Amino acid sequence: MKYCRYNLENGSCYRLVEVLGEQEMITRPLELPVERRRRASQQDIKNLAPEALGAARLLAPVTPSKIVCIGRNYREHAKELGNEAPSEPLIFLKPPSSLNSPGAPIRRPKISKRVDFEGELGVVIAKTCSYVHHDEPVRPYILGYTCVNDVTARDLQQTDSQWTRAKGFDTFCPVGPVVSNEPDPWAGIELTTRVNGEVRQHGNTRDFIFPIDVLIRYISRIMTLNPGDLIATGTPAGVGPLNAGDLVEVTVEGIGTLANVVVDE
Ligand code: ZN
Repeated sequence: MKYCRYNLENGSCYRLVEVLGEQEMITRPLELPVERRRRASQQDIKNLAPEALGAARLLAPVTPSKIVCIGRNYREHAKELGNEAPSEPLIFLKPPSSLNSPGAPIRRPKISKRVDFEGELGVVIAKTCSYVHHDEPVRPYILGYTCVNDVTARDLQQTDSQWTRAKGFDTFCPVGPVVSNEPDPWAGIELTTRVNGEVRQHGNTRDFIFPIDVLIRYISRIMTLNPGDLIATGTPAGVGPLNAGDLVEVTVEGIGTLANVVVDE
């Protein structure tokens, strides 16, 4: 199943994405147990006609109570910033207010001289998740996967002793365009980040230091994950700066491409 979140005048709704003919189309509305925003009226939803996914203006397909991010989950990325690979998962939070929609601008704040892209696989939580036992399967807790750009003010990350400011600016968490439960990160999903069409990051979830089951068990012992919460699973090597006018694209195999343009504040 693949779905997106669709914007209507008086709220939003989730809608199924399916291939009709040879095109990915947005079709029928879905009820998901993860909605936190104002849902569009039944009348508005009833009148929706199918439309092409590529042409639609979508919202981020998640409305999380929190965004849990993993630092240094690829060896080569830990190395490129001068860090050792961690011996246990390194987690931090991005505020839900940093969420950004596919196609919407990423704003570089004036107080940062270096804003980086970090293409990542996102995991959307399906149901309340707390103290997952070591032999309990984690797949039932996963609603699906999506693309995330964990935009980071790298200079502020280096000067601050923790990362709330560097990771937390408005627009610093583009997510989408869709959520899908079809890819299998344990089998391996390719992830590619491009800036202005040029490949800058290329990774595969097979190379995670901590696989998703380890991450979910670890996080669930610290904080309860709620339906709709988002986990950003870490970025591969190749992070680099963004300038005003850049087009940054995060492509996850089986999901699609999350594209955003960068603007200056
Ligand atoms: Zn990251």
